[in-house]
Amino acid sequence: MNEAAAGTAPALDVTTIRAEFPILARTVHGRPLLFLDSAASSQKPRRVVEELRRFYYEDYANIHRGVYELSQRASELHDQSRRAVQRFLGARDWREIVFVRSTTEAINLVAWSFVRPRLAPGDEILVTEMEHHANIVPWQIVAAERGARVVAAPITEAGELDLAALRERLGPRTRFVAVTWVSNVLGTVNPVAELVRLAHEAGVPILIDAAQAVPHLPVDVARLGCDFLAFSGHKTYGPTGVGVLYGRLEHLEAMPPWQGGGDMIDRVSFAGTSFAEPPFRFEAGTPDIADIVALREALAFLEELGRARVAAHEAALVARLEARLGALAGVRLLGRPRERASAVAFTVEGVHHQDLGTLLDLEGVCIRTGHHCAMPLHARLGLAGSARASVAVYNTLEEIDRFADILERTIATLRG
Ligand code: PMP
Repeated sequence: MNEAAAGTAPALDVTTIRAEFPILARTVHGRPLLFLDSAASSQKPRRVVEELRRFYYEDYANIHRGVYELSQRASELHDQSRRAVQRFLGARDWREIVFVRSTTEAINLVAWSFVRPRLAPGDEILVTEMEHHANIVPWQIVAAERGARVVAAPITEAGELDLAALRERLGPRTRFVAVTWVSNVLGTVNPVAELVRLAHEAGVPILIDAAQAVPHLPVDVARLGCDFLAFSGHKTYGPTGVGVLYGRLEHLEAMPPWQGGGDMIDRVSFAGTSFAEPPFRFEAGTPDIADIVALREALAFLEELGRARVAAHEAALVARLEARLGALAGVRLLGRPRERASAVAFTVEGVHHQDLGTLLDLEGVCIRTGHHCAMPLHARLGLAGSARASVAVYNTLEEIDRFADILERTIATLRG
């Protein structure tokens, strides 16, 4: 397979990679599965599923509780996973890694524990027009309660952030900035290093929603200098139910807990309770132990492939997607960002995206249709919804060509 179209890195052996994902061999409606919805959730490599099974069969017990061997072993694996995430993100300290359920929960944690206490009436939280609802609604909830408001920096016609306009909106009332690294609809890769610099020049902390970045691009939070960063395990070849919040230690140390319960305390009495240090202060109750343990395998999978090589392979897939879809009559790609990762959204003249998705499903093709949890972005584009194809490391150029051919036929059928 000639996958070396992008970059100088040696090509990935995609045939071997695909063999690690048993689900890719199945058929849907009698057709070979053509999975192009990894932005919603990625498929799982064998080693992640096998680690889950192994952990439950061999090492399972609740953590941080028992003095017995099994509990200590489970605790050790859980701790190792935290250190693996720390290395993977380039964080300076393991205490900066908080395990949560998802990107959504990570953002809510920051909204409630860090931002809410700092908001006064008239204050602003700056986001962008291309955010996922997970990076809009939590801010709206805390802002409404404090008489503050959420302000959105606009995008350009090309689907990139309008940096000049963003700079203008970053004013004396801005208390916090929350921006996606990669748009889950347009695939736009935002200049996050520049955004961190701009926010910090204005004296404002910044959170990066990296749900669509961590699976595709190399990440180094220490170099980036962001205050917070969030991602989901399930989009990163890992299990559902586990996500990560990275937060700078000085912030986490100053933040109050947002949920109370077991494991997050120092001492409890009816006279009052003192809390554990981060990250435990933010991890009340029994965590998703097995999924956290297995997340480590997902990160190792990506690291062993080489994250620069993964990015180069996916860049070739995205370029092929843009070229093939862009050449189909009546297909309009949303945005023309200079840098795009994984996702390409489009509309088809005279065809409803829902009808398109339904017919493509009959051909074994999985793409996402609808508003993709980005209603404000679709409103900005004057659309109720769109279709979106998104790639991951297991996709091939041949699949992209097959998809384009099926899409062309399907559009012809729908147009009668
Ligand atoms: N942010 C972005 C950019 C996303 O694409 C998604 C998932 N589609 C989320 C946040 C929310 O992720 P989760 O549902 O895993 O919390």
